[in-house]
Amino acid sequence: MSPLSRLEILSWLKETNEERLEELWSKADATRRAHVGDEVYFRGLIEFSNYCMRQCTYCGIRAGHAGVERYRMSDDEVLECAHQAVKFGYGTVVLQSGEDPGITTQRVTTLVKRIKAETGLAITLSVGERTVDELKEWRAAGADRYLLRFETSNPELFARIHPTHPGKNISRVEQLKVLRTLDFEVGSGIMIGIPGQTWDDLANDLLLFHELDLDMIGIGPFIPHPETPLGKDGKAYEAPPEQQVPSTEHMTYKAVALARLMCPNANLPSTTALATINLAEGRELGLQRGANIVMPNLTPVQYRALYEIYPAKACVSETSDQCAGCLRRRVESIGRTVGEGPGRSPNWDTRRRP
Ligand code: SAH
Repeated sequence: MSPLSRLEILSWLKETNEERLEELWSKADATRRAHVGDEVYFRGLIEFSNYCMRQCTYCGIRAGHAGVERYRMSDDEVLECAHQAVKFGYGTVVLQSGEDPGITTQRVTTLVKRIKAETGLAITLSVGERTVDELKEWRAAGADRYLLRFETSNPELFARIHPTHPGKNISRVEQLKVLRTLDFEVGSGIMIGIPGQTWDDLANDLLLFHELDLDMIGIGPFIPHPETPLGKDGKAYEAPPEQQVPSTEHMTYKAVALARLMCPNANLPSTTALATINLAEGRELGLQRGANIVMPNLTPVQYRALYEIYPAKACVSETSDQCAGCLRRRVESIGRTVGEGPGRSPNWDTRRRP
């Protein structure tokens, strides 16, 4: 049984009365505390390649954006970041990249094995749409988790923002199901306010989180990138005004809070995109309205600005050291503690129990 009905979800999504919304924030916060506690776990993000063969109309590193200087980190550079994660006390590293043909199956396997052997950290992969054989190989090599946002549960909208690639025929929702059968901790997520996303779409996204029984859910506002089709011409793709979801900070909190109610045991990051639209307190408010994870950036400073999926990304000019300190202070300022160890989703633990 779904914790909230579609009607209840829709009515919260459209709620504008701040007093009533206090009820949503406090329910989400209480559910977070009861299911995943007061610890906030840190996942060190390593953006190890910005090459991409895809043409996602929202994303600044899409193949069609010729103006981006492309980089691919060496294995040693990635390992150096993983060692920094250990130094900062993070329990997990996330390896993220564009869909880069230069990042072969074998390279990821080697990286995963080396990171495990040298650091013992939990490893999350976020390298796009991949074949079952690749996922199997990486799981066997020691990868623990995989992140692949389905972005929207509306297949027509998805097809519009994420054109197919010749020779590639992988459904994201199918891949999430495969990841589950391979015993990964499975993460997905969405952007809030994609031009063309309606209230019904967003309610369906939240229902799908529950149906997929996700272990991790990333939710951030859509931030237009001027060098992308959706950034240049977003208005042309919008749904009629009474149906279009706004890409606001406020909407993002509602979706985060509702995701917590729909998936009480999931790990939910207070995302960098949220921090980008409210640098002063986006992270904190996300953590107080359902989230329990932060993803400090570990990407070396010379590459950071080049992984520009959207503009003015929070923390682009900070060093890894600064991110570690800043996030720790933010977590402690709201009376929460920094979690130690891998910080698995209780969902995954329950699933493994005989
Ligand atoms: N190539 C990988 C990693 C993509 S970056 C993959 O596709 O899975 C991770 C996430 O950033 C994407 O899934 C998307 O939800 C988000 N993102 C990309 N462009 C964005 C934008 N303009 N605004 C907000 N979020 C964006």
